Amino acid sequence: MKKKLLITVCTVLSLSAQATEPSPTEEPRYDTLRQELVAQDKQLQLRLFTGSGMNYGHELPITTKLNANNDVLDIEFTRVNFNNLSYVKNLLTSPSGDSTTGVSDSTFSKFIYHNFAPTITLIPHELEQHSSTFKANSSLPLIECSLHSITASNDGTVDYSRKEGFKVGFHCPMNIEVNDTNDIVYDISWNVDSNAIYKFMLPSEQTGYRLAITSGTNYFGTTDSDTSALTVRPYLNMSIDDLVVPHIDVGNHSKMVGPNAQLAFYIDPRTYQSREINSVKESIRVVNESLHALGYNPTFTTSNNIGNADVIITKAPLPNAEEHNPSIIGKAAYDSALGKNVITINSGILVFTFDGHTGPNSPNGPYGPLVHEISHVIGLAHQTRFVDSIMGGSGNYLPGLTAPTTNSERNRAYSYVDAQVLKHVEQQLIQKPQTPDEPLNCTINSNLFGV
Ligand SMILES: [Zn+2]
Repeated sequence: MKKKLLITVCTVLSLSAQATEPSPTEEPRYDTLRQELVAQDKQLQLRLFTGSGMNYGHELPITTKLNANNDVLDIEFTRVNFNNLSYVKNLLTSPSGDSTTGVSDSTFSKFIYHNFAPTITLIPHELEQHSSTFKANSSLPLIECSLHSITASNDGTVDYSRKEGFKVGFHCPMNIEVNDTNDIVYDISWNVDSNAIYKFMLPSEQTGYRLAITSGTNYFGTTDSDTSALTVRPYLNMSIDDLVVPHIDVGNHSKMVGPNAQLAFYIDPRTYQSREINSVKESIRVVNESLHALGYNPTFTTSNNIGNADVIITKAPLPNAEEHNPSIIGKAAYDSALGKNVITINSGILVFTFDGHTGPNSPNGPYGPLVHEISHVIGLAHQTRFVDSIMGGSGNYLPGLTAPTTNSERNRAYSYVDAQVLKHVEQQLIQKPQTPDEPLNCTINSNLFGV
């Protein structure tokens, strides 16, 4: 059965912010400045999120809402920021960037207001049969979304310098058919032309958010109480590396090795009881087997020699392992002194089977949180609560619906969404091989424009 959605094109552009029109004398000034910034590659750097790579998925800066007729989708980005606002503000009066005088806040706000009017396009991707891979399909219609609102403060004014960000909303006319096979996803693509006042600080944010619009049984989530209603599921088709803010996040995340890595694991015998070792080893094995099941070719071994190991699995007190995670079970981070990824399970937690299916605290099975942490090392970031994932808000559990296998191996670790991101990670590492760590001796300011 197909549900035909009515076409309703919303052409009303209603900016809720209150900005006055620029005076005729200001307009050429704005235009000149914009052209100069673009020419010097010093545009405003847009960010859609203010957190770190590690807590990204849990705090997705997108809200989505279908109207009652399911013919208009509202998408709002709730934490939009310009990373280098004060720098560009100073350029208004001093193109060399060394002025501290700047223009007034209201003038600068007007300048941005009249130069920042983004649009987004939803680009369809279709599931390849018998796989978990989505491919662009040019025969399906694009969905063009118009800017609906830019809001920030309770008083309706746009304060572009707000640390927590301002909000940008779009109307998307849903002139599409949503079919019950739930095999179409949409990349949210921000349309940034070459003459725009802004560019993305993290290029992945321009196209890396995906939407699944599902109905009934689907590949993305299995726990909805009302599966008959159309459900919009935003998620991230991004890796850990995509979400790292250069020279800020380094040290707080794992170093991405990809799904084809050769890894020797050292299990710290000082921290794990012998009865837990089986679950640790089984967690490593399940990740290895699941990656093979999805067509990758990693080699995972364990080593009793820490010097020969690539990944250390240990236990230690973790007061702030992952922000926004009150249970604080584990952490994966790259230790630059050791030159290794280190996975730490919080002290006091026993590593036994915990996958949501066989129940907690039975030995010899995989431990969901450890599968989650190893997956960080592979390159997966967090996922949203809208989709089933080992990297999701309930990342203590192996996913209920796993991606199809390509051989006789068994995939227990990775959902359809995880499998999409693994594919992305693999391609990312092929295109851009990992380079040695760069020294962290640059100040944040000097890196704003890559100088
Ligand atoms: Zn995590």
